[in-house]
Amino acid sequence: MPTYSRIDTVFERGEGAYIWDTHGRRFLDFTAGIAVNALGHAHPYLVEKLTEQAGKLWHTSNLFRVAGQEKLAARLKELTFADTMFFTNSGVEAWECAVKTVRKYHHDSGHPEKTRFVVVGGAFHGRSTTAIAAAKSDKMVGGFGPLLDAFDQVSYDNLNELRAAITPETAGIIVEPILGEGGIRPASIDYLKALRAAADEFGLLLVFDEIQTGVGRTGKLFAHEWADIAPDVMCIAKGIGGGFPVGACLASEKAALGMVPGTHGSTFGGNPLAMAVANAVLDVVTAPGFMDHVSQIGDLLKGKLGELVARYPSVLADARGKGLMLGLKCVVNNGEMVTRLRENGLLVVGAADNVVRILPPLTIGEKEVTEAMEILEKTCREFAQ
Ligand code: PLP
Repeated sequence: MPTYSRIDTVFERGEGAYIWDTHGRRFLDFTAGIAVNALGHAHPYLVEKLTEQAGKLWHTSNLFRVAGQEKLAARLKELTFADTMFFTNSGVEAWECAVKTVRKYHHDSGHPEKTRFVVVGGAFHGRSTTAIAAAKSDKMVGGFGPLLDAFDQVSYDNLNELRAAITPETAGIIVEPILGEGGIRPASIDYLKALRAAADEFGLLLVFDEIQTGVGRTGKLFAHEWADIAPDVMCIAKGIGGGFPVGACLASEKAALGMVPGTHGSTFGGNPLAMAVANAVLDVVTAPGFMDHVSQIGDLLKGKLGELVARYPSVLADARGKGLMLGLKCVVNNGEMVTRLRENGLLVVGAADNVVRILPPLTIGEKEVTEAMEILEKTCREFAQ
């Protein structure tokens, strides 16, 4: 179906932060499949682990125990607040599992009236009918109603509004620690802490959608760690597969109390190929020094983007974000900026609020930063003229 306005470029090969189209032209890829290729293209270790698994076993279904799932779950339990998790093939499936988990928790713990969620404007949770009902953007919902009436939307990073929206029917709060599609808007640390406090005060479950922010993107394994708090439920996807489709809904034992046999399922979720790659991604991102590298290179890039904004005030308005989840708010049209940057050899992706998202592989070094800045400088100069 023609649901995408696709760019007329076909890529045939990638290596690290570089990608080549079918005409042999090389691009610096700071889109990374929209924050998916966390380790860049064709990372040798991921290729090795995927092909090793491909030669042994692809799929058995969840009728049976899956060794890779047990291994990944044990590791993620060790690394996070979670006691239990459900593996999916995509972000939106992880998010749907979170919604079901929260509702079932209240249902099974004596509060069947608690079925609603407080969500934030500018959020993006995916394209299922429930996820678009939460996001409420005209672009996404038009023509697809009637939608599930379960989401009360408030302004992002506004605690008073959020608290005022909580009713006896509220089951949970669902927030992205940094709005991704919504324009790389980081919530304040105080806000994230206050979400935890509000959830505890009103007996709600706190869900973080870390599908874009997670797996090292911000310089911590998960972005909520910056606020030193833990959610009850968390959705992940994108980076954990490094380009292989996989997601997960992680939960505390308490939050998942209703998710007993028969309540949820997936044919492909957590299949051996996905698990082999996800375990390999985790090997790399949890290696000593990896997160420090993301923070350092992210700070370097953000600093340089800030200087660029200062040099070209008629083109750019702001540089924001954390780690390697960065955004340039444009004065000029962000779509035109994305196009010109691509013409000049740098791939980036747009977002709401007239922002250009800069989401490079987490493995980039100073060389890639320098090259990206040269292209950005050239492109801003073109706009300024
Ligand atoms: N949640 C967030 C924060 C996302 O950024 C995305 C995708 O961009 C999703 C959910 C949906 O993920 P998927 O497209 O894998 O279903």
